[in-house]
Amino acid sequence: MMSQLSTRIRRSMQNPTTVRDLGKQLYTHLPPSAQEILLSAYFFRKRRRIHNEVFHAKLTELRASEHLQDPDEFRAMQCVLLKPIVSAAANTPHYRDLFARLGITSADISTPEGLRSLPILDKDVVRRDPAQFVDPIACANGSTVAFTSGSTGSPLRVVLAPDYEALEEAFTARQCAWVGLGDRDRRIRLRGDLIVPGSSTTAKPWRRNFADNELRMSSYHLSPKTARYYADRIMRFSPQALIAYPSSANLLASFVRDLGLKCRIPFIFTSSETLTSLQRETIERNLGGVILDHYGCTEATVAIQQCERGTYHVVPEYSITEFVPTSGSTAHDVFDIVSTGLLNTAMPLLRYRTGDRVRIAGDQRCACGRAFPSITEILGRDDDIVVTPRGDHVGRLDHAYKGLSGIAESQIRQESPSELRVLVVPSTGYNDAVEAQLIANLRSRLGDMDILVERVSAIPRGRNGKFRAVISTIPRSPQPSRSTSAESLTDVCAGSPIRR
Ligand SMILES: [Zn+2]
Repeated sequence: MMSQLSTRIRRSMQNPTTVRDLGKQLYTHLPPSAQEILLSAYFFRKRRRIHNEVFHAKLTELRASEHLQDPDEFRAMQCVLLKPIVSAAANTPHYRDLFARLGITSADISTPEGLRSLPILDKDVVRRDPAQFVDPIACANGSTVAFTSGSTGSPLRVVLAPDYEALEEAFTARQCAWVGLGDRDRRIRLRGDLIVPGSSTTAKPWRRNFADNELRMSSYHLSPKTARYYADRIMRFSPQALIAYPSSANLLASFVRDLGLKCRIPFIFTSSETLTSLQRETIERNLGGVILDHYGCTEATVAIQQCERGTYHVVPEYSITEFVPTSGSTAHDVFDIVSTGLLNTAMPLLRYRTGDRVRIAGDQRCACGRAFPSITEILGRDDDIVVTPRGDHVGRLDHAYKGLSGIAESQIRQESPSELRVLVVPSTGYNDAVEAQLIANLRSRLGDMDILVERVSAIPRGRNGKFRAVISTIPRSPQPSRSTSAESLTDVCAGSPIRR
């Protein structure tokens, strides 16, 4: 084994590669106990890097600001946070040119209202030339790079400021504290990390990370055959929380239900994918915990977090967020998220359209007591829709699965205007009658389309192991656009959404 390893490393040294690639190869060949030591050492260093003075100062600040009640106080706080973002923007080629064309300076954009003198920024503009949005001064002391998942095009390269990770972590820590989850409480992580090589057939596809008191489990090895071992290991680990992609938690919950297993986790933190109402129901019912969902994006322009009362709050210390009526939607409570992040000075994006939509059905005061704005539902990406032969755009098709048993997970694929393929991973209880009902449910929402159901053993994931419920390659016909003028915006600048 050691000779194989040294040969592999030698080959790696001969080829252009990075230290990180080499580290991954080394990790892959180590025995499980050594992998856990290496993993723990990695996360120990990461923890020391992130849990720094910036993190602690920000967390203290957030624990204080969540008690603000006066909209003027929120607005004043956002103005303070906006200033370094706009100053950084003025150092970037894109905004230098834009400010010159508009005849304004950064001093003219000192308030949430002032931001509205700028046009909305679409993702494609950033994707074409990300370097136009980078402030070299903010990156002078080091920066990191992240990539979007790129499922709707090439991944977008996002440059993050040196203190961004610590600031972001403070928002996560505050949400954990809302349900009393402490820094050292035991947790399971079930996301897209390749903890164990995908080709491995080990019966224990998980590793301890002692630095964070967590058990990291591979989401790639979860199947009807292995689910029993997962549930058993989780119960023996006795975690306070599960941190997971919605699709991973849903898959685990589906197997627990269908195989009659026992699995109890008090809190489930989901993020990185749109959590559907059906997934929420399946997860909470079968894993026995309460979900706290988080919506954000790699571009670091917005955060929407569920509080302990289940309300989705737009986090006012993270961004200045506007909700713009969605073009092409006939629903009057559906809005695009347009947001200005208040954390990342390395790549400031002002009034950035994230490509995701939300539903807002009236302003509600949350029982948690925080005066943060709230939304009703995160609807997800504007391209997670099916186009019907009549040209209608239909989203949120998860309701078509409601009440159907034996579907561990599924994915809708559309490559033709008149035809759908539905991939289904069947579980206990799935049969022809369930399949016929699924087709009927979809037809009732989409009209007369050819719907072909394919039973598969697993559904491939995209970059970072992320799951997509709908993949459509159908070009969208232009839809009548509702007004997106400043007068029609719904803004969230302070205590509650303000409709103008
Ligand atoms: Zn609340």
